Amino acid sequence: MLDPGHNGGNAAHPEIINQLVNVITERKPCDTTGTQTNAGYPEHAFTFDVATRLAGLLRKKGARVVLTRNSDTGVGPCITQRAAIGNRVHADVAISIHADGGPPGGYGFEVIEPGLVPGYTDKIIAPSRRLGLDIRNAYHAVAGEPYSTYIGTAGIDVRTDLGGLNLSRVPKVFIECANMRNTADAARLTSAAFRQRVAVALADGFSAFLHGS
Ligand code: ZN
Repeated sequence: MLDPGHNGGNAAHPEIINQLVNVITERKPCDTTGTQTNAGYPEHAFTFDVATRLAGLLRKKGARVVLTRNSDTGVGPCITQRAAIGNRVHADVAISIHADGGPPGGYGFEVIEPGLVPGYTDKIIAPSRRLGLDIRNAYHAVAGEPYSTYIGTAGIDVRTDLGGLNLSRVPKVFIECANMRNTADAARLTSAAFRQRVAVALADGFSAFLHGS
């Protein structure tokens, strides 16, 4: 299950995306617009392009792939629905793809794993931890992106405020692929060749998790 963060129509529909939903540890907006590079390349376009490339690679390997959205012009779905889609299809593995809007002086990527939310994430913490390490290692090696200099530890963070993780019943992580607000990272994110490497890296991470290679 691939979840490209945000959506191209979100900014035009605050009445929908600003509705509050329950992510167990708090109530937060159904979805957000995401960030963009200083030159205006939006996160929703980046995440959709990467997810589309990744879906193609995985289908070629024989995987059944489900996306949370099939265009970059719609609204949502809500973060609660994004988790529900992975649960509904009993995904073997799930990822939410994002790019960060961090401090301009910071760069690099981080993988976000679910923290303990009793009664919710208990069973997915261990497999998601393994998934997170496999994704981190593949992403670092294949995409060549350094670990985040401003968040997490060695490219890994653990959070309990994300609905996409708290409500998942299948192994799942988020990845913030780079910092859109950093000049060097923005140049990479804007490059189609880099986005292809990101997709290859994530496919390799999935393979490592599912097949141990
Ligand atoms: Zn995002």
